[in-house]
Amino acid sequence: MRPRVGVLALQGDVREHLAALQEAGAEAVKVRRLAELETIDALVIPGGESTAMSHLLRELELLEPLRARLADGMPAYGSCAGMILLAREIVDAGAPGREATPLNGIDMSVRRNAFGRQVDSFEGDIPFEGLDSPVHAVFIRAPWVERIGDDVEVLGRADAHIVAVRQGRMLATSFHPEVTGDRRVHKLFVDMVTET
Ligand code: GLN
Repeated sequence: MRPRVGVLALQGDVREHLAALQEAGAEAVKVRRLAELETIDALVIPGGESTAMSHLLRELELLEPLRARLADGMPAYGSCAGMILLAREIVDAGAPGREATPLNGIDMSVRRNAFGRQVDSFEGDIPFEGLDSPVHAVFIRAPWVERIGDDVEVLGRADAHIVAVRQGRMLATSFHPEVTGDRRVHKLFVDMVTET
């Protein structure tokens, strides 16, 4: 089965995820409207700016429908800003009135711009649970995970901080595999979508 995987296309690095998903074997489509959200089997929330994406989700009346689909079990993968949005709780969510809004896909607390306070961007090779060699990880004003629930599995760490997690059919990374040409993380997600 070739799943139809949407990329939330409000803001951020949408094009890179569309390409990565196609190469990983999915039919990749942009999602900007409710009608598009209703047609997909799974969703990727890209990197970008989580506060801006939250604002647009509210403006376009997609916030509650998206929360409902996630609560209903639609598989999702969030990278960087997408990880922030998939959280149950966001630490340092942004200026009052312009905060990033959690979608409650994964039982975790995520700190926004966590690495950004130390160094804005960096790269490194990190071991990734289930992959046979490290992933080259690009971090850009990246979040980290501060708390996980019992059902959440840690897939990767950088400097002891949790930067990749999975809960059921939900996946999140602090970094951007879509920019490296290595499709293993997207392949893992597409396999999660199709596994029975
Ligand atoms: N700092 C951004 C945010 O808060 C995330 C950065 C990224 O996605 N590269 O949403």
